[in-house]
Amino acid sequence: MKRVEFGGVVVEVDEKRTSSLYEDRYDGCQCDGCTNARVTRVDATPPRQVEIITALGLDYQNPYLSASERRPHHRRPGYSRRNSCWVAYGTIIGAESTPQVSFDRWNWIWTDSSRSRAGLAVENLVHMKLDSAGLIYIVASNSIPRLYLEVCGFRSERGVQACPRCNSHWRETGYLKRTSRIPDWYGVPELRGVLRNGKQRVYVEFCSECGRMEHRLVDDKPPFRRKSLKGRDQQRIQRRILRAIERKGLEAVMRELSQGHDLYGISGK
Ligand SMILES: [Zn+2]
Ligand SMILES: [Zn+2]
Repeated sequence: MKRVEFGGVVVEVDEKRTSSLYEDRYDGCQCDGCTNARVTRVDATPPRQVEIITALGLDYQNPYLSASERRPHHRRPGYSRRNSCWVAYGTIIGAESTPQVSFDRWNWIWTDSSRSRAGLAVENLVHMKLDSAGLIYIVASNSIPRLYLEVCGFRSERGVQACPRCNSHWRETGYLKRTSRIPDWYGVPELRGVLRNGKQRVYVEFCSECGRMEHRLVDDKPPFRRKSLKGRDQQRIQRRILRAIERKGLEAVMRELSQGHDLYGISGK
């Protein structure tokens, strides 16, 4: 049994039983919000939150579920709110829930025995198929930097070298926008001058697992990196064909295509 006190209320977790809940639980969602949460989690989680989650026998980097906060909340430019929930077999001693414990103005945590109440913060939680007897929900609400707003052409790539911090080969890569806040967030203020100056671009790579950042200056002349044009060309062809169907009718276009006309650039020219 693991125990932690939350604002005067003691929470106990049966770590052995709980670990079975996480056996095949892996958050592989590639959407911007989930990727951003994964990449920023190691550096943006308050140390006290890491301590609490770890003391309960849980992995602070792998919540059972996490989701962006959709309801309006106080604004903090460049940041968004992410709510994470760890599900555990345990007890909140003598209470249905604990008070909310705030780490600072932007981050807090609480525990609840009601899934529907915890589900107000992490909406998909209520739909999860879980054997609810004896489950409690540890919910953290965190303000995290939105890297997607600060980087252009952000995309995932597999690197040759493993991350020296966590051994992952996956990276989120892109170029800093001119007004990016990342030089301040990541403690490289000299990059602000480079961005303002505009003679060079700043290429960045974030480890997809632990968020470790590396950067490199490149000359400001294209191509900055090889681009796959396949998807773009296919979309162009589709648009051309759809427009032709509107104009000439489906039959006429089908006839043209069957006769091998290259009116629509299908040969890829
Ligand atoms: Zn997602
Ligand atoms: Zn890493």
